[in-house]
Amino acid sequence: MELPFAESYKIKMVETIRKSSRAERESWIKEAKYNLFNLRSDQVFVDLLTDSGTGAMSDRQWSEMMLGDESYAGASSYYKMKNAISEITGFPYFLPTHQGRAAENVLFSAMVKAGDKVPGNAHFDTTKGHIEFRKATAIDCTIDEAYDTTLDHPFKGNIDLAKLESTLRAYPASQIPMIIITITCNTSGGQPVSMQNMREVKAMADKYGIKVIFDAARFAENAYFIKTREKGYEDTTIREIVREMFSYGDGMTMSSKKDAIVNMGGFIGLRDPELFRQASVFNIMFEGYITYGGMSGRDMNALAQGLYDGTEFDYLETRINQVALLGKLLHEGGVPVQYPFGGHAIFVDAKRFLPHLPREQYIAQTLALEFYIEGGVRGVEIGTIMADRDPVTREDRYPGLEMVRFAIPRRVYSDNHMRYVAATILNVFARRNTIKTGYRIVAEAPILRHFTVALEKI
Ligand SMILES: *Cc1c(COP(=O)(O)O)cnc(C)c1O
Repeated sequence: MELPFAESYKIKMVETIRKSSRAERESWIKEAKYNLFNLRSDQVFVDLLTDSGTGAMSDRQWSEMMLGDESYAGASSYYKMKNAISEITGFPYFLPTHQGRAAENVLFSAMVKAGDKVPGNAHFDTTKGHIEFRKATAIDCTIDEAYDTTLDHPFKGNIDLAKLESTLRAYPASQIPMIIITITCNTSGGQPVSMQNMREVKAMADKYGIKVIFDAARFAENAYFIKTREKGYEDTTIREIVREMFSYGDGMTMSSKKDAIVNMGGFIGLRDPELFRQASVFNIMFEGYITYGGMSGRDMNALAQGLYDGTEFDYLETRINQVALLGKLLHEGGVPVQYPFGGHAIFVDAKRFLPHLPREQYIAQTLALEFYIEGGVRGVEIGTIMADRDPVTREDRYPGLEMVRFAIPRRVYSDNHMRYVAATILNVFARRNTIKTGYRIVAEAPILRHFTVALEKI
């Protein structure tokens, strides 16, 4: 008999989670103003809101916590993190920050000014937020294939070189501070970027004299896809792939809450000492002194170890297989899901799930709420509410895709939980024609509104 796949780790500590009744969930979600971010975590049975900071640290990471050096300047933890970053990414300069958006805030303060254009592949919401906050514009140059959820394409995170070049031609280099390559591309569905695409983007950037910055939250998952999907990389190790990927960039911002498997933390990696010097000034102002930047010594230690844990092939295989298991169960049940499956999450295509619902009633949000009420499973809307209003016209922006994302925390849930989630979604799918109306907004913030929006049932 061929041996079945099994996880590459065993469990040393457990955390109790509580089931609830449908009636309880209906009243809780109403109280939460139909915003899943407002729920208390004990009102959720399987929490797939995000894979950000929700991972389980390994015994090696917990051991590192005890070795943390809390000295203000020059802590050994800083050097441990510096060594891990330079060994894994190849960037000689780094600044610790408290999370990914803080890295964006610091680096963009040094690089982005009003009127600038920042091309990239479907910028993540905080990235776009930090660009627009500075009165600059993010220009999405993702390949068109990314927006067809049924199309089988191995690297849907790729940048369209023709779109990129027309942007680079349209504006002077002084107005384009950087090209951002997001790996994997969260907004378009956790989809990877190929090594070839990175190489070509870098060559084009060099031609126009523009810097390439990686938004690298899930760089290790991206490397796994390169190893398993891109010709020529079958026998290359994850760490060798990672080093080559980053060789095509001038810097990186990192949310370590993803592929470094810590609950909080981030950093900026840089090649240019002058840019490092400029960014250091903002790091000291916004985050903390440059040898801790908003992190405790123990957290820097755990992060350093997490970079090693997170770039092990066996771990990545376990993770990507679990995500794919959920995707496969949904796909087999006829649920429209983003295909091929992304690295950290499964995306349900809400427009194809609820084709009869008008987009003004927030299709993906409506569906995310139904999944919670059905089984206590919390996903998140990646659709019109998250897309915010147009900064100029203040009209709702309708993105190409309306999706509900189920992000899988790292090393947290079992495959049985994936089966439970799949059954929840399939139950809603069976009664989809009874979902006739959606929601309207009663209160919202001017930017990143999805975190605090209040809704009412139509
Ligand atoms: C999570 C994330 C960020 C922001 O990081 P935080 O740690 O949440 O501040 C930026 N870019 C991408 C692609 C992300 O996934």
